[in-house]
Amino acid sequence: MTGGGELLVRGGTVVTDSWAAPADVLVRDGRIAALIEPGTGPRGLDEVDAAGKLVLPGGVDPHCHVGFTSGSYTTRDGYFQATTAAVFGGTTTIVDFAIPRPGESPAEALERQRAKAGQGVCDSALHACVTDWDETIPEQLRSFVADGVVTVKMFTTYRGETMADEDTILRVMTHLRDVGGMAVIHCESNHIIEDVQHQCAGGGHIGAGDHHRTRPELAEDAAVAGVLAIAESVRAAVYFVHQSTAAAVDQVVRARGRGIRAFTEAVTHHLVLDESKYADAHPERFVCCPPLRSAATVRELGVRLMAGEVTTVGSDHCCYDTAQKLERKDDVRHMPNGLPGVETRMPVMFSEFVVQRGLPAQRFVAMTSANPARLNGLYPRKGSLMPGADADIVVWDPGAVRTVDNTDLHMATDYSPFEGLAVTGAVSTVVVGGRVVVHRGELLDATPRGRHLRASQLWRPEVPAPAAL
Ligand SMILES: [Zn+2]
Repeated sequence: MTGGGELLVRGGTVVTDSWAAPADVLVRDGRIAALIEPGTGPRGLDEVDAAGKLVLPGGVDPHCHVGFTSGSYTTRDGYFQATTAAVFGGTTTIVDFAIPRPGESPAEALERQRAKAGQGVCDSALHACVTDWDETIPEQLRSFVADGVVTVKMFTTYRGETMADEDTILRVMTHLRDVGGMAVIHCESNHIIEDVQHQCAGGGHIGAGDHHRTRPELAEDAAVAGVLAIAESVRAAVYFVHQSTAAAVDQVVRARGRGIRAFTEAVTHHLVLDESKYADAHPERFVCCPPLRSAATVRELGVRLMAGEVTTVGSDHCCYDTAQKLERKDDVRHMPNGLPGVETRMPVMFSEFVVQRGLPAQRFVAMTSANPARLNGLYPRKGSLMPGADADIVVWDPGAVRTVDNTDLHMATDYSPFEGLAVTGAVSTVVVGGRVVVHRGELLDATPRGRHLRASQLWRPEVPAPAAL
């Protein structure tokens, strides 16, 4: 099979975010050529047998950190490893973050990270990131959007590292509004967290096993309220990454009801794992921000997802290993935060929500593929199987049963937070750009052909209010 050739994905049930029906998929020159009546396609082509399987647009993971350095820790993977793990899990596009290191400008961080795309076995896009305001920021934002990077991350926490103050958040949101981009925000109220951490440390409760107590739900809910007020005031779009509480999601739902373009991303681990993991033999393996929440909160977050109030599901993939996590497990303030998850996102979500709770498969596709593509300016090239779309296709075996075992996974770490979880539904074949890349658990084409994707503007820039008469 060559990228220039033709391929027929035959006999499966095509599922997109809006419909599902038996159809064969004809691929030509790396793109979807047509969806056709089953069995009516041309003979003699290379074929992928999808009988009894679902045929999905490749997953789009809106939240991945690849080769990310925070303080003295750097995640263990690069683009080749992260995208290899991604495709084994049915994800064929990742969106990574260009987070400036000390002394680096947002534009320099973007250049550094963009140069890595070619090492991927699938395509990737980027979120830019602003930490401090200066007079060069408006021009940087304008050129990011013009160059196809339309989302800009800011953090309300990690003082002295990546935290942006509220003034910076307001100004960046306003400028993005005027050029058709969107702010992407990590919300946890820094002053509340620092105070609670200080109290926990005083009582000797600041180790990995105490992590959930050091970053209360209230801190997230308070920061979401503040950021939503800014978005409402300046009429700007805002996307909340990894919302972990029902109260935070509810605020976003109410804001949408008032006409604000506000969106909720949830991530797999907050939807499936709870704070009891901090009593596990390896609490350090679960240290992420926001932390895993109570079982009641996890349940309520799942209710919001089933009710259609969660727009996208990401992984927040951050590939540290146990040795890195153990180094400072006595004090979460100095530990590397984040969990590996790009490979397990789709199988775990399919199993927990489609199989166990009856979520329609179309909505699984919406949250894991189509909506992330839309909100990153990549739709319908990604996240769809429309004629002309990139031929990134996942043949999914909905009945395959297995248990998550890190030795079967491809992420550059020695553990999975989902270790031991029984999962129904798995990748059978993955096509990237018209080439069969994964089939029956084997990487058939390891050639790095990843492209950095240029996103299109998300919104029409605001029409200025008419001058008073
Ligand atoms: Zn993240």
